[in-house]
Amino acid sequence: MGSIQASRGTRDILADEIAYWQRLEAVARTLLPQAAYQEIRTPLFEQTDLFERGIGEATDVVGKEMYTFEDRGGRSLTLRPEGTAGVVRAYIEHGLQAQGGVQRLWYLGPMFRYERPQAGRQRQFHQLGIEVIGSRDPRADVEVIALFNDFLTQLGITDLSLELNSVGNPEDRQRYRAALVDYFTPYQQELDADSQDRLSRNPLRILDSKDPRTQAIAVAAPSILDYLGPDSKVHFDQVQALLSDLDIGYRLNPRLVRGLDYYTHTAFEFQSGALGAQSAVGGGGRYDGLVSELGGPATPAVGWAIGLERLVLLLQRLQPLSATEIDVYIISKGSLAEANALKLARQLRQQGLGVELDLSSSAFSKQFKRADRSGASVALVLGDEETQAGTVQIKWLKSGEQRTLAQTQLLTEAQSLFRTSSEA
Ligand code: AMP
Repeated sequence: MGSIQASRGTRDILADEIAYWQRLEAVARTLLPQAAYQEIRTPLFEQTDLFERGIGEATDVVGKEMYTFEDRGGRSLTLRPEGTAGVVRAYIEHGLQAQGGVQRLWYLGPMFRYERPQAGRQRQFHQLGIEVIGSRDPRADVEVIALFNDFLTQLGITDLSLELNSVGNPEDRQRYRAALVDYFTPYQQELDADSQDRLSRNPLRILDSKDPRTQAIAVAAPSILDYLGPDSKVHFDQVQALLSDLDIGYRLNPRLVRGLDYYTHTAFEFQSGALGAQSAVGGGGRYDGLVSELGGPATPAVGWAIGLERLVLLLQRLQPLSATEIDVYIISKGSLAEANALKLARQLRQQGLGVELDLSSSAFSKQFKRADRSGASVALVLGDEETQAGTVQIKWLKSGEQRTLAQTQLLTEAQSLFRTSSEA
């Protein structure tokens, strides 16, 4: 029988990559609480209805990409394709609005979409997201954009570009939609099949089309910015002024649209030229209509989601990171020495040191080679002779310097002797 492989569009994150994931999780876990965001963990599956209402049936995500199944009780469930719908459901279900003020939440975890896998696009992928629920202030829009920016900067990623747009309010979009239909209808036959379909259902999404012919037609389409009413314009002007105040550069992109009625005002995306076709690292915007769409009280909100696979690709190009946190590598040979080594490893770990024990019983020379590769700064060497004498040899792996010490002394002075030399 053949061996079983990971499902198409999923992948294992192995030791050579895990340090990047841990790093970005660590940065998120410090940065977001510093801005008063609290972590929320919602279920990986929800009732299918939630996503149909919360993302919209006319979107690709709901129309074509959901992992929907019936459970043994006959319920229609769906693996979450994104995080916001679940967060908003939880907000409503637990009456978080009753706590008053603004709720600032963040989440991190796997999302599931039945897409065609390619570099930077998977069927199980991970997102980090934040949501600010309960403020219509343009400072909330700018706070979330600034946090996106600061998160990237702290990771050392500084070459992303910010694309910015406003999709106005539902009335603005009603007028804009009509203008788009007028514009595209004469070209109907030349549009790609999806866009023809969108012309009646969701014409704003034609602007997202990746088809070159459709794109060429869309170049001269009307701009949403010409259809913003006075309130929307004021909001957008304030967002731009506040971004400039914070020295956050952006490029206006009137084609960055989201087709659904509960998306309002600010829309943005961070892009990287280094990612090829899948250039969007993450994006977000305002969704003042979603909480009420899902049955809660009318509540404005704004947020974003970052695709972590793409971020890891960018991080890997920057700095090599390694997951080893080993200070000491213990080499032993002989039955007395091997038992002694096991015990010594445990005692040193109890002092907070990173200790790797060689389990091979192979020749000292082979164990030394592994010690060199381990990332440890020192090797401890134990033979039966040392064990009987209560001593141990220490070898500093970089300099090659060697000493013999009593094990009792080693245990009292371990901290100063072994702390990773790379820190010094
Ligand atoms: P979205 O929820 O579609 O706005 O996506 C936000 C971010 O999630 C994107 O910019 C990507 O970085 C990431 N993302 C979305 N879909 C996928 C996928 N299938 N595979 C990997 N990353 C994805």
